[in-house]
Amino acid sequence: MPPRTAALGGRLPERLVRHLITPLLRAAAPLTSPLTPDDYLGLLDPLLDARHPAGRVTALRAETDDATTLLIRPGRGWAGHRAGQYLPVGAQLDGSWHWRTYSLTSPPERRDGLLTITVKAVPGGRVSPYLAHRVRPGTVLRLGPAQGEFTLPPAPRPRMLMITAGSGLTPVMGLLRTLLDRGDACGHPDVVLLHSAPDAAASIFRTELRLARERLAWLRYHEHHTRATGRRLAPGDFERLCPDWRERETWACGPASLLDAIEEHWGRAGLTDRLHVERFRLTPLAPAAATAVGGPVRFTRSGVETTTDGSEPLLEAGERAGVAMPYGCRRGICFGCLAPLTYGRIRDLRTGDIHDEPGRLLQTCVTAAVGPTALDL
Ligand SMILES: Cc1cc2nc3c(=O)[nH]c(=O)nc-3n(C[C@H](O)[C@H](O)[C@H](O)COP(=O)(O)OP(=O)(O)OC[C@H]3O[C@@H](n4cnc5c(N)ncnc54)[C@H](O)[C@@H]3O)c2cc1C
Repeated sequence: MPPRTAALGGRLPERLVRHLITPLLRAAAPLTSPLTPDDYLGLLDPLLDARHPAGRVTALRAETDDATTLLIRPGRGWAGHRAGQYLPVGAQLDGSWHWRTYSLTSPPERRDGLLTITVKAVPGGRVSPYLAHRVRPGTVLRLGPAQGEFTLPPAPRPRMLMITAGSGLTPVMGLLRTLLDRGDACGHPDVVLLHSAPDAAASIFRTELRLARERLAWLRYHEHHTRATGRRLAPGDFERLCPDWRERETWACGPASLLDAIEEHWGRAGLTDRLHVERFRLTPLAPAAATAVGGPVRFTRSGVETTTDGSEPLLEAGERAGVAMPYGCRRGICFGCLAPLTYGRIRDLRTGDIHDEPGRLLQTCVTAAVGPTALDL
């Protein structure tokens, strides 16, 4: 079968896109300035726009009462992912785009070219109840670049331990499905998966994992139910259920309390370098300083102005105002959202530091305006 690309919804062979369509678009650029050919293609179908990658929901699969898997056909701009990574997903709700981060549960090279994410509805949440309960096939979501280091090492590890709780199983499912896909020819590592959920009905991917456990000699899968046992998964359980945990490279994802306990346990054993941890809750941003009054923010090249409070990141303010903002991880890590400050003062929402040097490159996802501000965008 010829190699296929995510481009144009996975329908065109990669060589056609690389050798014909991409050069044609490049040649057409002077004719469409100041817009780009991609902007026009995006009007025809958002999946054709390589500048603002998007994907179309093709199907939905209920995993539990409050968690749903979304199967997504990525468009032209999707650059692929490594197993275990996450991506920013944009959903349009009430006229504006809201972004949240979700782990990819699909292996990088699914035969049908689809991506999957599994979303658990957080009660009172803005985006997750929509994605878990209300999104419909055909909906277009925006996709940020895949990122994160909760991935498989280049050299296979002979023994692996995975400890997860609740929706923390999602990135590990991406890893496991990738190991499964690699086939017996490569030899499989010996994998122990300890997963915690309130009960069997709330345990995502349960049927798939139980079937895999029956079929595969290399996978041991243990479910811990907090309702029945009256307690959470704890270090004593790792010792009991996986006595050779010290010899295994470990991947852990779940609530902060579980991850803190794991980090402490591995730290005491001097094994931190064999532990990979993924956290879904980020360190809270610094509270707004008394001087942080926000203000009018002008995006000079776009000719757009909006007003922000002292806590809204400039990235979100720009998107709310309809500016095509560059973005990446949306959490201050990847520097994909850099924009030069033209004038004004901004506050780093992580540290509270104030900056006012014109020309300074700002991480717009973690900075907010302190008074009138202008960005060269
Ligand atoms: C690297 C990474 C990977 C992630 N992968 C997944 C995934 O695969 N599946 C998945 O379902 N979620 C995942 N998340 C969490 C996801 O990004 C959202 O935070 C979550 O869906 C809630 O969004 P919301 O808009 O519904 O809630 P918001 O409207 O943002 O928040 C509403 C309320 O819920 C609280 N809240 C927000 N997030 C969480 C959370 N994760 N747990 C408990 N309370 C929360 C907030 O403090 C607030 O009180 C991941 C997060 C990160 C950082």
